[in-house]
Amino acid sequence: KVSSDCPPDVEQLGRSTWTLLHSMTANYPEQPTVTQQTETKQFIGLFSKMYPCWVCADDFRTWMKQGNEPRVSNREEFGRWMCEAHNAVNEKLGKKSFDCNKWEERWRTGWKDGRCG
Ligand code: FAD
Repeated sequence: KVSSDCPPDVEQLGRSTWTLLHSMTANYPEQPTVTQQTETKQFIGLFSKMYPCWVCADDFRTWMKQGNEPRVSNREEFGRWMCEAHNAVNEKLGKKSFDCNKWEERWRTGWKDGRCG
């Protein structure tokens, strides 16, 4: 194992970034203003250009253009959209798909069995 104070590789960067992105959806309003919706779309658009793994960013932009534009009308929609975005990467990498009915337990409320405290 490499020391933890080294520059991140693609996997480490990915884990940290998904934590940020899913946490943003978990804290997104249930009834966002038009401005919040606009700014969220702008953020995703800029993120998809600046994400510092260029193949990842290119593929993410391509996926969005294939009828997967960000859905930001409320927390539930945005959380599901992010889950679907993550699943598209999971699929590409041959990883297991995540059940998007559970995105809120994983990223917002904690699991129903109480293990998250
Ligand atoms: P991660 O995929 O990082 O997931 C972290 C945790 O999120 C999981 O343990 C699970 O609890 C939860 N989770 C998993 N799936 C979902 C989901 N669908 N919805 C909600 N929660 C979920 N890597 C590449 O090698 N090539 C790429 O092209 C690539 N593109 C990427 C594009 C983006 C936009 C991002 C943010 C990352 C990308 N990555 C890419 C990184 C990759 O997605 C993983 O982060 C990395 O491979 C580490 O994977 P992991 O198995 O540790 O878990």
